[in-house]
Amino acid sequence: MKYPVLEINPGKIRDNAARVKELLRQAGIPRLVGVAKGTCAHPAVVRAMLEGGVDAIGDSRVQNLEKLRQAGVSCEMVLLRAPGPSQVSKAVEVADVSLGSDPGLFKLLGREAERKGKIHRVILMVDMGDLREGVWPDEAPEVARKIRDIPGLVLWGIGTNMACYGGVIPTREKMKALLEVKEKIEDAAGVPIEVISGGNSANMRMVLAKDVPEGITELRVGESILLGTEAVRREEIPGCHRDAFKLKAEVIEVLSKPSKPVGEIGQDAFGRIPVYEDLGTRRRAIAATGRQDVDPDSLYPIDPGIRIVGASSDHLILDVTEAEHPVEPGDVVQFLVQYGTLLRASTSAYVEKVVV
Ligand SMILES: *Cc1c(COP(=O)(O)O)cnc(C)c1O
Repeated sequence: MKYPVLEINPGKIRDNAARVKELLRQAGIPRLVGVAKGTCAHPAVVRAMLEGGVDAIGDSRVQNLEKLRQAGVSCEMVLLRAPGPSQVSKAVEVADVSLGSDPGLFKLLGREAERKGKIHRVILMVDMGDLREGVWPDEAPEVARKIRDIPGLVLWGIGTNMACYGGVIPTREKMKALLEVKEKIEDAAGVPIEVISGGNSANMRMVLAKDVPEGITELRVGESILLGTEAVRREEIPGCHRDAFKLKAEVIEVLSKPSKPVGEIGQDAFGRIPVYEDLGTRRRAIAATGRQDVDPDSLYPIDPGIRIVGASSDHLILDVTEAEHPVEPGDVVQFLVQYGTLLRASTSAYVEKVVV
């Protein structure tokens, strides 16, 4: 086997999808979009989500949805990031639903749908305060009216996305405010709004607390299915696996060295001036991976005695002095991952993806 490896366990992803689906059902939310972008829409991951009972697959990137179509995946697909002018044609071809907020871009999408003889469903994104995508709530009825009049499109729903840029927590109040926007749009545009897409894995807290106002019909969930955590405090979701993915890397050096670098300190490989604590001489191992493949801040050695002390592009430096299992050159060390590493490892061409 070639290392580093991202090990994917589809059985655990299927279990997590089924668990999240059941939690949503208990909270009164009928529809679950499984979001695959954290794995660049790996087909094994997507198939596991579908086996677990997700109603559709979502991804931000047209290329990922296109790859799934080419792999023979025929489920409903949702494009989570509005397609730009260069992507509307592919978007209409591979996605059934697109999220977005700009009537001008929606017009291009509608024109492309008409050309292909299709009706494309759209979800108007409303910004409830997180300041990423979406129109401001008081502008939503006017924009909705414009979208209603675009041939080739149907205004299928509204949605919001929080806790991604601003870190704003989706609360019951925020969901109620979104439902008020729905009422206003239905009054102003005179069309029924079928889907109210309340958010992402950050909404799982309200799902677990069964504190979701009636009328939220959908969540778009990636992290909770992939990694078993909610996205506000990264707490575990009871009944979900945390280890559906593992990162494995080979050890290429183990030596005893001082913990504080020797000499005058300037910038490191990424322009930062590092500060080091002097812990005396430590046993240090180098694993053959680095920031090109992983995010050291979202990577957790499975051996509780191993600590990550730093990383450059291609070297991951570990303190293995207190490792429970002695680490030798040639060994493989294993890590659990959080979102940052999952994304980077999935994207890196140097990381072998292995389905177990
Ligand atoms: C990425 C994304 C999601 C899923 O986010 P998770 O935190 O992984 O659940 C949902 N909606 C939109 C619009 C996204 O971009």
